[in-house]
Amino acid sequence: MTESRLREEICLHGRSLFDRGLTFGSAGNISVRLDDGWLMTPTNACLGRLDPAELSKVDLQGRLVSGGKPTKESFLHTSMYAERPSAGAIVHLHSTHSVAVSVLADLDPQEPIPPITAYYVMKIGRLALVPYYAPGDVGLADAVREVAGRHHAVLLANHGPVIAGKDLETAIYATEELEETARLYLMLRGEKLRLLSAADVAALRQKYPS
Ligand SMILES: [Zn+2]
Repeated sequence: MTESRLREEICLHGRSLFDRGLTFGSAGNISVRLDDGWLMTPTNACLGRLDPAELSKVDLQGRLVSGGKPTKESFLHTSMYAERPSAGAIVHLHSTHSVAVSVLADLDPQEPIPPITAYYVMKIGRLALVPYYAPGDVGLADAVREVAGRHHAVLLANHGPVIAGKDLETAIYATEELEETARLYLMLRGEKLRLLSAADVAALRQKYPS
């Protein structure tokens, strides 16, 4: 896909996420890998009103080439890309239901949401929970880096998801799948659940490796 097409895709997906309430205000950011660097949403930008020409373009050394200053959370993206050479795009949102789950006490860091549907297992694989860090704390970059090699989907405690995909559409769809799974999980809290069995999950993971 050409760079100009990728710029348009970022804006179209940003608008769609915003229109459906998956992001709000200037929260959330999107990045896409290019041959010579990355495109990122600019700092303080509303995903619902992005301009293709104003997206931040950074080179392979992380220097700004054109457009506005990149998102203040660009380190989440660069930490993930550094550990995942196959990642073509990354989405980070403060989507309400995913954040709600990230606030629950006593979550299993290896499995913050149990396998409640097959599509959750297929699109998210193994979700990792990263502990809380205050905004701007560089410790968060290291914490994401530590799990990103093994997990393409990471949930930041009291903050939101960071999800990598082979391309932008894959990353967006996985983020949406996580948000809907989080919503289901919250609806079902307190109910007796029939989760997918370990054998069900193993069969899905073999057929759809993440
Ligand atoms: Zn954030």
